[in-house]
Amino acid sequence: MSRGIVCLQAGQCGNQMGTAFWTTISDEHGINPNGEYTGHDENQKERIGVYYTQSSEGRFVPRSVMLDLETGVLDNIKAGPLGQLFRPENFVCGQSGAGNNWAKGHYTEGAELIDSVLDRVRHEAEACDVLQGFQVSHSLGGGTGSGLGTLLVSKIREDYPDRMLVTYSVMPSPKVSDTVVEPYNCTLSIHQLIENADAVFSIDNEALYNICTNTLKAPASDNNYENLNKLVASVMSGVTCSLRFPGQLNADLRKLAVNLIPFPRLHFFVVGYAPLSGPGSQVYKSLSVPEITSQMFESRNMMADCKPHEGRYLTAAAYFRGKVSTEEVEDEMRKIQDKNASQFVTGTFIGNSTAIQEMFRRVGDQFSVMFKRKAFLHWYTGEGMDEMEFHEAESNMQDLIQEYTQYQDATAGDDQDDVGEYREEAYDDELPEEEPVE
Ligand code: GDP
Repeated sequence: MSRGIVCLQAGQCGNQMGTAFWTTISDEHGINPNGEYTGHDENQKERIGVYYTQSSEGRFVPRSVMLDLETGVLDNIKAGPLGQLFRPENFVCGQSGAGNNWAKGHYTEGAELIDSVLDRVRHEAEACDVLQGFQVSHSLGGGTGSGLGTLLVSKIREDYPDRMLVTYSVMPSPKVSDTVVEPYNCTLSIHQLIENADAVFSIDNEALYNICTNTLKAPASDNNYENLNKLVASVMSGVTCSLRFPGQLNADLRKLAVNLIPFPRLHFFVVGYAPLSGPGSQVYKSLSVPEITSQMFESRNMMADCKPHEGRYLTAAAYFRGKVSTEEVEDEMRKIQDKNASQFVTGTFIGNSTAIQEMFRRVGDQFSVMFKRKAFLHWYTGEGMDEMEFHEAESNMQDLIQEYTQYQDATAGDDQDDVGEYREEAYDDELPEEEPVE
């Protein structure tokens, strides 16, 4: 019996990164663009029901709802290599556009589309043997993914209060996009995600840009979304690997959250990946477990622009994939040692680090500069939004930064007390692995 996850991809970025994710995982599970299994290893199918529904003709169909307020990106997906893979009814599209305006996505244009989206979500949720939860991919800088995406998050929270809800959320960077109001859209979204998401994998375009330029040395012209999304897809594949394949770590979203979130509001993760390979390079350099481990913990492999070595890890998880000895990984996690090299090993890192506040500070500063002057505010109030919501969003994000600072500055003694108290609560809340069929 599989514990299904329903995926939602909203707006341009959400759909483009979502498609990169499905391309990567379909390849990993041996599913061709017609939904046929062409693989060679039973492990590929054992937990395939987590992300795919099998149709009556035996085809594997991604459990994904694709939504946007304009047709361009969805039309490209339909016309692209995966066009036949998705369920056609699951493309839900408006015509009006959101014009990079969070208020249009959240309150006006988006609100008109929300019922049709929730209808598809319900349909997919009901088709799961057991529903584990939801995964939303979107950007926070635009209008649809951020405004409508967070409206969706709040509706799902309301309709499925006991299911897990995680997001892959792309933070804006002026290095990648020059739309001035992105810090507004992003802060308004974070305000929502603090309250309504269980966990947020923070993907920062500033960091993706830096990785492409500094680490992969891609020419500036190559820093297009396709390259950024390849990085996003490798990290999404890595994070979800333990949900999709059998293994020692039979993970699910709830266990992941219980283990990584010591304080409920501090649920914004830094994710990292190693090794990073440049565009066009097909073959990984063969790296040893010690090399992968040390790379995974380096700031330059992190997909959020921050320096975790200057902050504190509240928790962290490292996933290794490939022919690798568990003992070796365990040794490595205790202490980096020089051992035999294993080929084609990759590692994905999830850290709950106080250093993520650097990213929130960056966006918060950009927000404040504009908000002080009430710049562009009429775009939002014109859609019926109250200025008060801007104040609330700003102070909620400032509070979040303060909370991270507090734990960063806490002495070891304070920290232990806190962790001890929390652990009891966390284990009380933990649910049995197989939840009853609903
Ligand atoms: P929406 O369609 O209204 O949700 O708007 P977008 O998704 O285009 O949001 C704009 C923000 O998303 C900007 O910060 C862009 O840099 C970023 N963005 C747009 N498309 C992509 C993409 O495919 N990948 C990445 N990483 N970022 C994107």
